[in-house]
Amino acid sequence: MFFKVTFILAGFFGSYYFIFLSGANVLASLTSWLFMGLFTAFVGFNISHDAVHGSLSKYGIINRIMGYTFNLAGTNKYMWKILHNVIHHTYTNIPGHDEDLEPVALIRLSTENKLRKIHRFQHYYAYLFYCLTSFSWVFKKDFETFFRKKLGNYENKKHPAREYFILFFSKAVYFTLFLILPIMFTGAPIWLCLLGFLSMHLIQGITLAVVFQLAHVVEGTTFPVPDESGDVKNNWNIHQLNTTANFAMRSWLATWFFGGLNYQVEHHLFPHICHIHYPSLSPIVKRTAEEFGITYHENKTMWDAIRSHTRMLRTLGSNENLPEVKMAS
Ligand SMILES: [Zn+2]
Repeated sequence: MFFKVTFILAGFFGSYYFIFLSGANVLASLTSWLFMGLFTAFVGFNISHDAVHGSLSKYGIINRIMGYTFNLAGTNKYMWKILHNVIHHTYTNIPGHDEDLEPVALIRLSTENKLRKIHRFQHYYAYLFYCLTSFSWVFKKDFETFFRKKLGNYENKKHPAREYFILFFSKAVYFTLFLILPIMFTGAPIWLCLLGFLSMHLIQGITLAVVFQLAHVVEGTTFPVPDESGDVKNNWNIHQLNTTANFAMRSWLATWFFGGLNYQVEHHLFPHICHIHYPSLSPIVKRTAEEFGITYHENKTMWDAIRSHTRMLRTLGSNENLPEVKMAS
């Protein structure tokens, strides 16, 4: 893990350095920005995500400090903790509660959202919108969710005063680092810096969105709806197995770069365990699931998972409800 963190941070800062080194050379500059985008996603997957879960290091102080790599990447650590750790990990795939199922632009990811005519084409255009994921986090989502009273059923209580400061201060640092400084000091024309910034976000956005979607919105996973009293009557661990899927478990490349998020089943059951242990945990979880007759969802390759997600988009885009999937309970 120490080697991983060092390597990924070196890639992150190295790409940043190369943006300045490339100057006005269009090809070199855009390549550096693209690597910047990829490494920002890798920082998120491998370092920030684990740190905020408290699983990067056994020392709380290291987790707290490394969690701020989210802010360095333009996202707000405090809001991430609420949206991801509290809401997504507790109410996984529950329509109207799991923020990850909230409609993104013209994409319908849950049966709770109104079906519109345009949605029948969503399996064609969804991936274009996915490219805008990090762009939306940086410019819109953090602010919007910070000031919203309710997030699904979660009361967004009064935030500590310092979080207001951190939100605005770290956004100012981010825009200084990634817009103002490159415009002032790379020697590249403004259009190239803006195009670079956009390219960085397109690749970062699609990488983040695809990895997240392949874990929960694929065929076989369920979207349990609470009863009238607001309860989902199931054991929490079984709920996680019902709503979560792994992909490309045999690919060391996916496992290494996606921060174990291709082992999402293990991550949802043991979010406090560092992701490098998921491949060893997986056979135990799989065996236990089989023993109790619970499906262990997995797509063999990333491509299988992408195709499955695309078919889900088509189903959700043309049907009010999803076909009944047998749920373990
Ligand atoms: Zn997580």
